[in-house]
Amino acid sequence: MREWVTAFVGIGANLGEPCAAVLNAVQVMACLEGVTAVRRSSLYGSTPIESSGPDYVNAVVELKTRLTAPELLAQLQAIESMAGRERPYRNAPRTLDLDLLLFGQSAIQSAALTVPHPRMWERAFVLLPLSEIAPDIVRATELAQVQGQTVHRISSI
Ligand code: ADP
Ligand code: MG
Repeated sequence: MREWVTAFVGIGANLGEPCAAVLNAVQVMACLEGVTAVRRSSLYGSTPIESSGPDYVNAVVELKTRLTAPELLAQLQAIESMAGRERPYRNAPRTLDLDLLLFGQSAIQSAALTVPHPRMWERAFVLLPLSEIAPDIVRATELAQVQGQTVHRISSI
């Protein structure tokens, strides 16, 4: 039987009903077969980086899974589609973005999947919520490198 792996998923949305989309995505993830123990950070607000449109709502979740990383990515993409995700151009505003940040200790580099997520260490909207639920993973020096970016905690729910 496959082992349970701890994975982290970054969530972002800035079109439609972003708060509802983020919270709904967390609930759907918790219902996936082979996924358990989903733990969410607070919700954060951030100004688009390399993107446009309204401010983003962001969060990070930790989960335990028996899925492989490609299987989990496929499920995340299905949840994005359910939320009406479209990709008209690179970095376009989006109803829901789910990025696989970390998958246990795995380092993966394939055409469809790079883990750890290649841009996660440059993004305050990932590192702040991640440090809230996994303080041992994000070092103070890494947080300091993104402190110029506009990210604030929307709520502690
Ligand atoms: P981005 O999140 O970079 O703005 P998209 O959400 O449109 O862009 O994803 C583009 C592609 O990135 C996806 O088709 C997916 O195959 C690929 N990808 C590579 N690594 C990852 C990862 N760690 N998490 C999510 N998608 C990834
Ligand atoms: Mg994405």
